Order: sequence, then C-alpha cells, then structure tokens
Amino acid sequence: MNGEIPYALTFDDVLLLPRRSSLKSRKEANTQTQFTKKIVLNIPLVSSPMDTVTEDKMAITIARKGGIGVIHRYIPIEKQIEMVKRVKRAENIVIDEPYRISPDERISVAKEMMEKYGVSGLMVVRGGELVGIITHRDIQFETDSRRVYEVMTPKKRLITAKPNISIDEAKDILRQHKIEKLPLVDDSGKLVGLITAIDIIKREMYPEAARDRKGRLLVAAAVGVREGYLKRVKELLEVDVDAIVIDVAHGHMDLVINAIKQIKRIYGDIEVVGGNVATPEGVEDLASAGADSVRVGIGPGSICTTRIVTGVGVPQLTAIMKCYEKAKAMDIPLIADGGIRFPGDVVKALAAGASTIMIGRLFAGTDESPGSIILRNGRRYKIYRGMASFYARLGKEEAEREMLELDDITDYAFTAEGVEAFVEYRGSVEEVVNRLISGLRAGMSYLGAKTISELRRNAMFIRISDAGWRESLPHDIEME
Ligand code: 5GP
Repeated sequence: MNGEIPYALTFDDVLLLPRRSSLKSRKEANTQTQFTKKIVLNIPLVSSPMDTVTEDKMAITIARKGGIGVIHRYIPIEKQIEMVKRVKRAENIVIDEPYRISPDERISVAKEMMEKYGVSGLMVVRGGELVGIITHRDIQFETDSRRVYEVMTPKKRLITAKPNISIDEAKDILRQHKIEKLPLVDDSGKLVGLITAIDIIKREMYPEAARDRKGRLLVAAAVGVREGYLKRVKELLEVDVDAIVIDVAHGHMDLVINAIKQIKRIYGDIEVVGGNVATPEGVEDLASAGADSVRVGIGPGSICTTRIVTGVGVPQLTAIMKCYEKAKAMDIPLIADGGIRFPGDVVKALAAGASTIMIGRLFAGTDESPGSIILRNGRRYKIYRGMASFYARLGKEEAEREMLELDDITDYAFTAEGVEAFVEYRGSVEEVVNRLISGLRAGMSYLGAKTISELRRNAMFIRISDAGWRESLPHDIEME
C-alpha cells in the first residue's frame, strides 16, 4: 500500500486557460488525428462498442463525418462480419464483388437478397459472365415465382465499362445515359466490378469521411479474449476490417497482453487497440505487447458502476494525463473512453493527451443507434445500457454460447458493473457530432491551436472550485 494518497481530477474539476491566438477563423482549426499508429481520422471521435451504440448504421455515419465506429462483439461472428461488410460497401466507389444472382433464380430470392444486403439491384451472372441487371423497380409488381431472366434488363440493353475506367469518366457515362449502375466487364465478358451513382454522390456529400486506401469507409470491430476470439479476428480480417479493438473492462491483464501478442504475431499488419487501462503501467504493458493504440478509462462511463461496485478506478482527466506521459514516450495514441458530457470535455480530454475520444451515451438515443424509440410520458427515448449490466450480460452469454457452441453455460451469476437506462431520443447522430466538433474548433481557437498536437502543447489547466463550476453553467436565469 502507498503512503501518501495522490489526488485525482476529472473534467468538471478543471478549465483551460485562454491563450493568444493567430487563428483568423475557427475553420482554420484542423481536427485530424491518429486513431492508431497507422490510422488517421479527420475528427477525433470514436463510437463505443456497445449493443445500444454501434452497429453498421452508426459506424457508417461516424466514418462519413470523419471518425470511426467500433462494431460491438455481443453478437455471433456472422452478424458482426455482415455489419463490417455493410460499412465497407456503403461508399465503395468500385465495388469489387457486387452481389450476384443466377438468371434462373426465382424473383422471391432476388427480393430476399436485396433486403438482406440492403441493395437496390443485383448483377445477373451465368458462369462469371454478366447477362443482365435486376433492380427493385423490375420486381416491384411481379409475382414471386417468375424467374430473374424474365424481368431483368438484359446485357444487350446495358451500358457497361472497362475495369480501368476513371471515376470522372464513370461519372460522365452515368450522367449521359441517366443510369445509376455501371457494371465493369473485362474483354471476355466477365463481371469484375460495379460503380454506382449513389456512391459517387455520397463521396461528394462527405468530403471529410474517414476512408481506406480503396476509398471505402473505415470501420473497427471489437473482440474479447476468451476462447474463440482468434477465429473472430481471422474472419474480421477477411472482410477487411481496419482495426481490431480488444474490448475488455480490465485491459491490464495477462490475458489481454497475450491476446495482443498473438494477434500481432499471426497477422502482423493489422492495427490492434488494447484496453481499458487507467495507469501508465497499463499503457506500457499493452504498448510493449504490440498494441497500436490504448483505450483509457476505468469507470468514467455514464452507465458504469465499476467504481461503486469494486472501489477501483481513476477520475478520467488524471487517468488521461498520467497515461499520456507514458504514451508520449512510447509514441502511441490514446483513446479517452467514457464520461464525456459536454463538448468542452472533448477539448479537455484531447488537451490532456488523448488523440481520440470514445463516446457511448451521447451517441445512444439517435437514429443511428440500435433499438427502437420508446414513448414514456409523451416523450421519446431509446435504451442505453452498460455492457456489464445485468440484461446485457444475459445477452452476451447467449452470444458467446452460440459462438463457442457450448450448450451448458447455465451460470449467469456475476457482479454487474453497469446499468440500463433511458436516454432521450435526439435525432441523427450527425447533429451530435456537429455540436461536439464545433465546440472543439472553438476550444482550439481559444487556445490558439491549429492542430490537435498544438492544442496539447498550448494547454494550461487550472483547477476550479465548486463555485467556479456553478459559475460555468448557465446561472441566475430562468431556463425555458
Ligand atoms: P459514456 O460515453 O456513456 O460515458 O461511456 C461509454 C463507455 O463506458 C464505453 O465506451 C465503455 O468503455 C464503458 N462501458 C460500457 N458499458 C459498461 C459497463 O457496463 N460497465 C463499465 N464499467 N463500463 C462500461
């Protein structure tokens, strides 16, 4: 046991001093940052791997805004893989492997496939050769028993292009012929790809999107460290996930260290995020094992009861600052995870040394979070729950049982370290992101910082009293 007890602080305990600024406008503030050693984001926001926060819809929107989503792991492997695929396909300028169907299939199969994959059309292919396209419009009023070849647009009426066409040329063809899909066909008539108008439009709508080398949106996925996790990692890599997040409440464990080493040894170049930790020793051990980024946060989460139940944790600002001392020396980015309540907390967390911020509650209750809207006393809510809460844990055991093919997990006894809650419905997550990022840009401008590393360099924290905090909030007025 230590002698003197150190003092630790969190976001509401501090403020940042304003500094002389040469920025002419808040637009000059560049919010680019590192998610991992190799992955660069255009905004420092990451959505939490929780079953009420990040599935494909959330991951797509967050990546379009310039951040990244981490698809949660509390589902069977196939479902997680399907979600990663959906993100990767969401804005694929050239779709390498468009969904295909045989001309002899029934229309009912085409309908099912379009629904399952969330697409409006399928390439009709026989023996690798393109023979037509079938779209929603072709089948809308058709009987299910008819065959695809009876209603498709046949090849002779299709406009196609060669595989090496440029995006600008493709755009011209789409516009000239007023078509939405341009299949790419090689000299022998084989289908080798597809360009769609909607993908080109989306690309132009979201110039800030976080993309991989092929222009697809970035996406990360969570895995655990129990038996079977390597199978999950392997399958995730096969669908080109950009980073693996080892998602464990207590990340400073031999199990996690060994998992990082294993994944790095088997699949050298995949980016691996380790966590969660709250001490410099934790950062050091995970970074030494090969982690490309470390998640910091033990107990700051809004739905988290770890500190109350176990007596363990570190107030988040001190956790980030202490961890940053080690992360800086080892040149590894930190993800500050949990406890963000206001846009100003994002600024404080980055100024304290985080490179990105992971968010649960503020992104829950949006159109993009899983789950439906619930009406309570005339107001609209969605459910948000800690992944170590009772009901979430029940669901997780089910998922793990399926994954491990065990049928005798009957012991649901555990200590819950999280709660379930209602959060008010707040429309699209885009609005939440916009609010956080405009707060960040303004904060950077107050500190005279054009980049996030300048923000960190210029940061001078001051501690404030309770009276100082009360003064910070709107006060002595009648709120509407
Ligand atoms: P929030 O943004 O809601 O304050 O925090 C979200 C973070 O809380 C997540 O990214 C995750 O690290 C953490 N978390 C999620 N579920 C639980 C839980 O049940 N218990 C604990 N201790 N933390 C949780």
